[in-house]
Amino acid sequence: MLLFQLWVWHHPLHGELEYRIRIWDIPAKRRVYGETPVFVFDPQDRRNALPNDSDYSTVARRWPLCPPSLQALFTKTFTTGLKEPASRVTEGEWQTLFRQLKDGVLNCGGCQAVNLWDATTSSLECWHCHQLIGLPPKLVRSRHGRTHILLLSRTAKLRQRHVDPFASDDVAETIIGEVTQHPTNPSIWGLRNLSSTRWVATSPDGTVKEVPPQKATSLEAGLKLNVAGVAAEVQP
Ligand SMILES: [Zn+2]
Repeated sequence: MLLFQLWVWHHPLHGELEYRIRIWDIPAKRRVYGETPVFVFDPQDRRNALPNDSDYSTVARRWPLCPPSLQALFTKTFTTGLKEPASRVTEGEWQTLFRQLKDGVLNCGGCQAVNLWDATTSSLECWHCHQLIGLPPKLVRSRHGRTHILLLSRTAKLRQRHVDPFASDDVAETIIGEVTQHPTNPSIWGLRNLSSTRWVATSPDGTVKEVPPQKATSLEAGLKLNVAGVAAEVQP
């Protein structure tokens, strides 16, 4: 609930049901929070939808700006999760989601506003100036049934947790690679190995080459990278 308030500045159960109450006393609170709790954005049960009142305009504006993956976790929490504790979102699921969102941060090329890219969206429109934001290539790693995507924007850093989701907290954020621009041809971008071990890069044409520490491999769609035994692929 605190996460919801942080993102949309509103209580998840304050909608029509609360709006119609004249006396906000203990029985009223018990009804809204305990006896008939209904999420204001419950896709099925619309009894507690947002009233058409300016007091609710902030949440009405902020909710659509939440990435779909975040909306999905909030919806799970405040619909099935309200009645079935086993269906609630775990701390690990929240952490995975917020790390993934952090790896999808993009600045708008026009107004520089921070935007959050989400794997479920194929194009990204700036929430602030509505300009379409060009998406950089992505580094995709699938392992143990989990997929992680790092947007390879010009400031992107490859961290230990990107190749090892079970990395301990003290090494998870260690930078092991970074996106770099070619020194003489700025239109060529690469990924520099900042780790202490060699990577293996396989081009789409099958050429295999080693990427020693401090060296970079050029980024091209279809490039397969092996980083410390973990396979990842550059996708457009
Ligand atoms: Zn913008």
